[in-house]
Amino acid sequence: MLIKHRVKKYTSIITLTIGMTSLWSCDYDKLDKMGSETTHVVVIGFDGLSPDGLQNADTPTFDTMIEEGASTMHARAVLPTSSSTNWASMIMGAGPEQHGITSNAWERDNLTLPAVTQSEPFLFPSIFHLIREQRTSEKIGAIYHWGGFGRLFEKNAVDFDENPATEEETAVNASSYIKVEKPLFTFVHFDHIDHAGHEFGHGTKEYYHAVEKADSLLAEIMKAITESGMADNTMVIISSDHGGKGKGHGGESMEEIEIPFILWGKGIKKDYRIKYPVYQYDNAATVAHALQIKTPRAWIGRPVLEAFEGENVEDGYPTLVQLKKPRLNRPAKGYAADGGLFNDEAQLVLQNPNAYGEIRYTLNGAMPTKESNTFTQSIVLKENTVVKSAIFVADKLSSRVS
Ligand SMILES: [Zn+2]
Repeated sequence: MLIKHRVKKYTSIITLTIGMTSLWSCDYDKLDKMGSETTHVVVIGFDGLSPDGLQNADTPTFDTMIEEGASTMHARAVLPTSSSTNWASMIMGAGPEQHGITSNAWERDNLTLPAVTQSEPFLFPSIFHLIREQRTSEKIGAIYHWGGFGRLFEKNAVDFDENPATEEETAVNASSYIKVEKPLFTFVHFDHIDHAGHEFGHGTKEYYHAVEKADSLLAEIMKAITESGMADNTMVIISSDHGGKGKGHGGESMEEIEIPFILWGKGIKKDYRIKYPVYQYDNAATVAHALQIKTPRAWIGRPVLEAFEGENVEDGYPTLVQLKKPRLNRPAKGYAADGGLFNDEAQLVLQNPNAYGEIRYTLNGAMPTKESNTFTQSIVLKENTVVKSAIFVADKLSSRVS
């Protein structure tokens, strides 16, 4: 009931806003003309959305945006993989070493590491602040389902600041704001996937359901962008703060640190897979690049140039995609993660859980290298043997060692 009431209340505000807008239709016509040249940016962040979630849930909208845009499923969050630290890094173009938001316990009056520079007391300058400083009359909005996000940016930088109670309301508010105001920059935060991760666990059917719900909420916002008439001039970034493992996050595993990063729209390459590393703090730098906003030296994020049309990035260090390490089939008693001990004769069967790559192994405890034997068929071990194996792709070590 409470939720319904809130939605109704908001709907009436929007109706009133539309009414007022028509009074000023002349101004809006002018803005529309300007809009045909101006780039708009919408960043949509889903708390706790992992690459695994996108790969295993049914997500037609995300899939379309990946096909029509540039993306990587191997962007990296910052450590610790906590929400505050990562949302801060996403909007501040810097990591915890710079902005000082090192944990979820951070508050302006409860912090350990002060920010290296600040836009207002105890706060490192965010993308909201920079846009406001350099584009004083533009519309900037933040709609966030998690109230904690609200303490991470400069309140006077935005003209629309909403903390809706539900994910549905978040989508409704963001969509209305986009349609009515045609803002220069809109930031939307959804929290419900993280709730499913904590309650049911990452990789559970409930988690994937939450990702599927995110897909329909994303579709709602994309529809609003189309209806606003600014779709041709809008760049959208979709990402998340962290992944998760079991019922949590905060640690250093690949499942927690890898996040999706999807760019779509104006100036962005189509059906392009990003080859080089993307970091959490590159998000804000990419927004700044699209909006031609100058960023301070204090920022360390760089725009994901590779995703933009006409940009060609080449160096010898693309992201090494980490594959799953080899599995020992029917593990014998005594087999440990770092090797195996067998008391009797044993058959060694190694399996590659990935769709590609080959297993190379050693039987003397040494690290497998590209020169090590390739596993092709089972091996009979007659004495205690330490087996080490890993996945190689084109002679490159591409997994951890089993
Ligand atoms: Zn989070």
